[in-house]
Amino acid sequence: MPTPTAGHSAPDTSTRRRAGDGFATRAIRAGQDPCAATGSTIVPIYQTATFTQDAVGVDHGFDYSRTGNPTRLALERQLADLEGARFGAAFASGMAAIFGACAILRAGDHVVATSDLYGGTYRLFVDELSRFGIETTFADTTDVEAVRAALRPTTKLLWVETPTNPLLRIADLRALAALKRPGLVLAVDNTFCSPYCQRPIELGADLVVHSTTKYINGHSDVVGGAVLTDDAALFERIAFHQNAVGAVPGPQDCYLTLRGAKTLGVRMRQHEQNAQALAEWLEAQADDVAEVFYPGLASHPDHELAKRQQRGFGGVLSFRIRGGAERAAALASTTRLFNLAVSLGGVESLICVPALMTHKTVPAERKVELGITDDLLRVSVGLEDVEDLISDLGEAFARTASLAEPLALA
Ligand SMILES: *Cc1c(COP(=O)(O)O)cnc(C)c1O
Repeated sequence: MPTPTAGHSAPDTSTRRRAGDGFATRAIRAGQDPCAATGSTIVPIYQTATFTQDAVGVDHGFDYSRTGNPTRLALERQLADLEGARFGAAFASGMAAIFGACAILRAGDHVVATSDLYGGTYRLFVDELSRFGIETTFADTTDVEAVRAALRPTTKLLWVETPTNPLLRIADLRALAALKRPGLVLAVDNTFCSPYCQRPIELGADLVVHSTTKYINGHSDVVGGAVLTDDAALFERIAFHQNAVGAVPGPQDCYLTLRGAKTLGVRMRQHEQNAQALAEWLEAQADDVAEVFYPGLASHPDHELAKRQQRGFGGVLSFRIRGGAERAAALASTTRLFNLAVSLGGVESLICVPALMTHKTVPAERKVELGITDDLLRVSVGLEDVEDLISDLGEAFARTASLAEPLALA
């Protein structure tokens, strides 16, 4: 294990965290001992750029807040613990975290990545990493043989998103981990599941990446990211990048994220309960809804795998509305409780038309290939009372019913 440099995430030393503690206990305790100097129960917001030293070379573990800040360190320890990892590095956004994870690459390295990747990650691999001489091949990561076929001797990184966005397809992480050979790193973007529903390191992943903007912070008021790993050598490289590039979150954002993550478990359980009820209701609305995508439904192609691999099915679902693009756009603009907005994972419900919003820049033919059609709506199911969410969508269906095409007679 490397000697942690000043303020860099070291294994958690909290006295109130014991081996065997459950998820909720760790979320509330890991990295969060009361302040030794003041007794402050809650980790303070250390709003400082620099730390005063006692003598030249004698400090209290911190010297400059880009390199390390106590509020950020508490968050890094908390998130590492939740993913079953020893090390964590927090970043200013999910994208900065993803770029941070890519710091393990060098010119000439090859990446294999999920074909229906988050748009920002696709753009990073195709338009940014390519400029550094790093080439990416996209593969259907729900098909292990397709991934095996895409691997080259120079493949350094296998980048997987599961569930995918917006169709919630699930990749078998254990099977993908079995493809690893020395020098090949498996990284998983675990944003959609959060560590409550899925812990990729336990399934064989080397790196886990989050947009903490989503479920981990959970209140739609912070943009942030994190990389978690149990591998000391990988961490050393990523922590070096974190300090060298400096895309670090400020103490206020770290504080809010640390606070949000304390309730991750209870929030995820309710997100899932609401999403399951809404998905089942949508499936029963055959006059208005052509198809529903939610891993918790028995009709989902990866339902059994999701049940094996995940502790919950998450809070995002999508569905195809009868009536095509026009009705999808009208519906998304007429709901009361579902805000028309990108992003996900907050307490408030959101609705969007991926083809025109989150996936707007994906070429048209590629969208068709991926099944991201104009009649597809994505919903981030929030924590409102689910009866209210159902009646809101029901009313929106009624208001837009004139745009539905008549059901084909069988
Ligand atoms: C939002 C998101 C990102 C990017 O995170 P930002 O915090 O917006 O930079 C990456 N991956 C997934 C799966 C996301 O949903």
